[in-house]
Amino acid sequence: MSVSQELFDRAQRVMPGGVNSPVRAFNSVGGTPPFISAAKGPYLTDVDGREYVDLVGSWGPALLGHAHPVVLESVHEAVERGLSFGATTRGETELAELLVDRVAPVDEIRMVSTGTEATMTALRLARGFTGRDLVIKFAGCYHGHVDSLLAEAGSGVATLALPGSAGVTEATSSQTLVLPYNDVAALEQAFADHPGEIAAVITEAAPCNMGVVTPENNFNAEIRRVTQEQGALMILDEVLTGFRVHEAGYWGLSNEAEGGWTPDLFTFGKVIGGGLPTAALGGRSDVMNYLAPTGPVYQAGTLSGNPIAMAAGLATLKCADRIAYQTIDRRSEQLRDAVRSALDTAGVNYSIQEAGNLFSIAFGTRDTGVHNYADAKAQETFRYTPFFHAMLDAGVYLPPSVFEAWFLSAAHDDSAMDRIISALPTAAQAAAEA
Ligand code: PMP
Repeated sequence: MSVSQELFDRAQRVMPGGVNSPVRAFNSVGGTPPFISAAKGPYLTDVDGREYVDLVGSWGPALLGHAHPVVLESVHEAVERGLSFGATTRGETELAELLVDRVAPVDEIRMVSTGTEATMTALRLARGFTGRDLVIKFAGCYHGHVDSLLAEAGSGVATLALPGSAGVTEATSSQTLVLPYNDVAALEQAFADHPGEIAAVITEAAPCNMGVVTPENNFNAEIRRVTQEQGALMILDEVLTGFRVHEAGYWGLSNEAEGGWTPDLFTFGKVIGGGLPTAALGGRSDVMNYLAPTGPVYQAGTLSGNPIAMAAGLATLKCADRIAYQTIDRRSEQLRDAVRSALDTAGVNYSIQEAGNLFSIAFGTRDTGVHNYADAKAQETFRYTPFFHAMLDAGVYLPPSVFEAWFLSAAHDDSAMDRIISALPTAAQAAAEA
């Protein structure tokens, strides 16, 4: 028996499903998840000594690859000074300054520990600021496990084919209106149906949790237009896309070409903590100052702005220069070309869904593409399982769900890319035969 299997058996006795976050259990692809013991650059090593090229990147944070020496040094220095003070520190201000410098519409930042906290706080803030109760989200978008945002959510909720979550009260879910993504008419209709009642529209900057879906026909700019007309806030969730697809996130990548739209609030996570638990919300000063202690909307956290996490985030973002993004973009293009070539050769029907350097495969959607959650759910998901396992057998660790994006890093060098690319033809054949 493999060490991973032995550990998974033990884990399942003491943790539901053997995991602390559902998609890690390999429910949709089946099999035993490898237990990871170390990670360096583009590689993961499991407890049985197998090495994998990693295309998950801890679900986003590992922008520079794992255990980048500059980040490790910065973390080691911070550790020597103590682990947590529960008091203000220089590092928090420096990271906040860096975020404010990079994302022009952000005037002020509040650090939290997870993306879930960031979106939960952004909603409370939007409700406090506008004095309105309702919130709009889009089907297939995932914003963390906030009660009111689990309806028709992506990520693990989509992977497990759940409509939402048990344990969310009717009173809570009735405050959320769920609309189809990329549908401006539905958005306008929702505001017409609920005049003066909608506090905010929350959207992923580009959805990456139902697989990747590209915002079409300036959809973000349209959300901005409609919310502005209606006195509601626009919350751009960049927990996943922020500082990954561009120095200024998906907003930085797309807004100028679309006439220069500006959300009121942003949420960040993943990359800004460099692999340690940090996330943030940020935005216009007048809105942000509604947060306590300057305003009436309460939010707090024992470990918020943790000094080790601030050190990891600062070092990561300082290393994430233009060259790092150019490298990831180039590697992403190289990999997409190789995926297309392998799938075409095997005669597979698919489309590749893209948002900057993030992408995913949607099987059986060549003629239609994927524009919203209904399209994403209608794809031939069964082709992903053999594809995933063929890649895993060849030493490539893909997301264990078709509803997730593939994450490259600045550390994916020629030899890591060669390993992925040489594994693709067998995986493509397996997908074709499914
Ligand atoms: N928003 C988006 C867009 C995400 O992708 C995620 C996590 N994948 C979250 C929020 C929640 O972040 P966390 O898992 O840190 O709570």
